[in-house]
Amino acid sequence: MNFSEYKNKRENAPSISFEVFPPKDDSEFEKLKGILAKLAEFSPSIITVTHGAMGKGRKRTLEVASYVKNVIGTESACHLTCIGSSEREIDLMLEGIEQKKIHNIVALRGDIPKEEGKELLSKGAFQHANQLVEHIRKYEKEKPQRFSLAVAGYPEKHIESPSFEEDIANLKKKVDAGADIIITQLFFDNRYYFDYVERVRAAGIDLPVIPGLMPVLSSRQVIRISSLCGTEIPSSLKKKLNGAGDDNRKAVEVGIAQCRDQARELIDKGVPGIHFYVLNRTSHIEKILESI
Ligand SMILES: Cc1cc2nc3c(=O)[nH]c(=O)nc-3n(C[C@H](O)[C@H](O)[C@H](O)COP(=O)(O)OP(=O)(O)OC[C@H]3O[C@@H](n4cnc5c(N)ncnc54)[C@H](O)[C@@H]3O)c2cc1C
Repeated sequence: MNFSEYKNKRENAPSISFEVFPPKDDSEFEKLKGILAKLAEFSPSIITVTHGAMGKGRKRTLEVASYVKNVIGTESACHLTCIGSSEREIDLMLEGIEQKKIHNIVALRGDIPKEEGKELLSKGAFQHANQLVEHIRKYEKEKPQRFSLAVAGYPEKHIESPSFEEDIANLKKKVDAGADIIITQLFFDNRYYFDYVERVRAAGIDLPVIPGLMPVLSSRQVIRISSLCGTEIPSSLKKKLNGAGDDNRKAVEVGIAQCRDQARELIDKGVPGIHFYVLNRTSHIEKILESI
């Protein structure tokens, strides 16, 4: 199923999508192939493949997304970040995506790498994801194929945004430029998602908003990720992870239970899909999907 089909989805069950990151080298890719085959057994609608900011690892993103689509036979999406990239670099990636017959793109600005400052924004052709979406829609005008485009949404507001109002207004720019769906940043408290959907609807946006969930694997990991993207760790989750201490097996169990409970409530409330940040692992996802 392409991103653009989420809107007209008829069946009640939510679509499942998985997000993986590209391998660093060939031997990692061989391992990833096994992981992808296992993920495909869960019949996801789409497997999406992340992309380094400033185009790092662009070739690998395409290679993995093509493997998913053309070898495994599951629909795939390439994430495409525009920060620090020229229009030509973006077009080369779009040509590659087209050649590999991939129909879905997650169109993003990309994070500003720590070693760079905000000046990086002015070094590339596009400063924000809405411009990338606009560019993709212009690019495909002469082509037979229309891409299905997902953009990022932030239930706890984007970390750089001064206010929710501004962040939602900027989301609207991506929607007006031609996005088909919104996939959210991960969150650990569903209330943020439900409030966010209300804000999005109040702004006149009627696209599907797919919640992004990430099963926690360790205390250290959750602290690092939440500080990077400004996600709150609820005190109940913190307590359970502290209780697990250095026992990674216990921490994984806490993460599975947390993600399962979030997914159950989201499904009960009728979300159109769930996007799982699987971090190139399968055992935790298997347990979560079995239990929901
Ligand atoms: C589902 C998902 C997948 C992701 N995949 C990747 C990935 O593969 N690789 C990667 O590097 N990162 C990825 N990210 C992280 C993402 O790149 C960062 O969160 C980045 O900081 C913002 O990207 P964006 O596309 O939301 O940017 P934007 O929509 O451009 O927003 C960035 C900030 O600028 C503001 N803004 C937006 N438009 C305008 C405008 N026109 N004028 C002024 N201000 C504006 C926004 O309010 C926000 O604060 C992903 C995030 C999500 C939710």
